[in-house]
Amino acid sequence: MPHEKNTGPTLSGWGRVMVPGYEVRSSDLAESSKHAVLSRGLGRSYGDASLPPRGVLEVLGTTLADRILAFDEATGWLRAEAGLSLAEVLRVFMPRGWFPAVTPGTKFVTLGGMVASDVHGKNHHKDGCIGNHIRWLKLRAGKGRIVECSRAEEAELFFATLGGMGLTGHVLEVEMRLVRIPSPWILSESIRVPDIDAFMEGLSRAASDWPFTMGWIDCLSRGASLGRGILYCGRWAEPNEAPRKSPAPKPKLAVPWVCPSWVMGPFVVKSFNQLYYAKHWQRRWTGIVHPESFFYPLDAIHHWNRLYGKRGFTQYQCVLPKKSGPLAARRVLELLVKHGGASFLCVIKDCGEQGEGLLSFPMRGISIALDIPIRDNTQGLIDALNEQVIEEGGRVYLTKDSFTRPLHYRKMEPRLAKWQEIRSKWDPDERLQSALSERLLKEPNQ
Ligand SMILES: Cc1cc2nc3c(=O)[nH]c(=O)nc-3n(C[C@H](O)[C@H](O)[C@H](O)COP(=O)(O)OP(=O)(O)OC[C@H]3O[C@@H](n4cnc5c(N)ncnc54)[C@H](O)[C@@H]3O)c2cc1C
Repeated sequence: MPHEKNTGPTLSGWGRVMVPGYEVRSSDLAESSKHAVLSRGLGRSYGDASLPPRGVLEVLGTTLADRILAFDEATGWLRAEAGLSLAEVLRVFMPRGWFPAVTPGTKFVTLGGMVASDVHGKNHHKDGCIGNHIRWLKLRAGKGRIVECSRAEEAELFFATLGGMGLTGHVLEVEMRLVRIPSPWILSESIRVPDIDAFMEGLSRAASDWPFTMGWIDCLSRGASLGRGILYCGRWAEPNEAPRKSPAPKPKLAVPWVCPSWVMGPFVVKSFNQLYYAKHWQRRWTGIVHPESFFYPLDAIHHWNRLYGKRGFTQYQCVLPKKSGPLAARRVLELLVKHGGASFLCVIKDCGEQGEGLLSFPMRGISIALDIPIRDNTQGLIDALNEQVIEEGGRVYLTKDSFTRPLHYRKMEPRLAKWQEIRSKWDPDERLQSALSERLLKEPNQ
């Protein structure tokens, strides 16, 4: 059985905030999960979800358990070990005409990580979260028992695990649906949008015509152009639309070292945003693009998280419910601008119905995600954003979070009590823990 101890004395999520710890990787998850406090995939969650709680150093690294166990050519159901990466699923299945029903914005994630975050993609308005396309899981639950669960069998555990941030059990195996694609290319349309209100309207109009939509916002523009940006839409190209010359993916680049913190300072970010907006000088562009460039633009730059310097960064992602009205996104952006929260990556997405996962993040409305370099005032900025989000009736995405306070989270998440009840049933001694569970679920008075 391959078994490695590795990664040195510190661990971090994608936001690069280091804590003491290391992974023990194993290809036999059933065996190695017996005494582990937490499983961790490719560490692409930004915050502290994949990090051990204080006083514990070791987490179970799943990436050696990456076998494909079965695939049904007639239906697209794939059974695999939880450490299999999405990149490997694409490598094996795209040339055969299959694609995951839902993908996040990076392919460097594992199936276990996708389940634990109940990830959503550019098609959330149409196809929901990955949990809608998972039909069976094998887990080692906190109490120690290996359990198979689905919508029909141990359903409560199944739904608590979708979006349950690894705290209901170690996922050992997953059954996930792939969908047929007519060609390996994307027909993409991008439209320049003058302000946030036009964005809201554009996203909702595009949702009925396009399976994939999302927008980039210049979140430093103010006044009449507050929230200007570019709306991206896409669908799989039909075989007769496929180009004679294949479109190339973006060339691969790498950030070779950790940058000084001024690199992501307001001046650079503002200049980047202005150039990025100006580069899209046509009002509308349509063409065939490579799926890597469409779904995973950031994967083209290896280690891009090093741009944020030694202190690292966090991503703030919230969802604002439809009932809070079309001006809710404007109110959040105004607050961000007021607090000087500069972000070169600010993404807006249209969300469909709330997922079946008990702690699934999206709900019908709009999601806004922004990368924020960690500075002395970051906690204050996130507190202010969270208070606004609570007022709007929204919530934050745990897989990106590392600053939300327990009291704020409780106000955002009416489903938490039910989820805690199921967690306690399967893990009465709270053997499964993470830095996130210690921060967010233990101290209700803060
Ligand atoms: C560039 C980029 C773009 C992204 N875009 C999106 C997006 O569009 N939509 C979206 O929803 N997310 C997005 N994400 C977030 C990412 O999809 C999730 O954080 C995903 O869960 C990471 O998977 P991982 O394998 O790296 O898991 P990790 O980060 O290693 O772990 C994440 C959580 O999963 C748990 N976990 C991992 N493996 C197991 C297992 N076998 N059993 C039980 N628990 C487990 C961990 O304990 C932790 O709580 C993005 C991240 C990046 C870096």
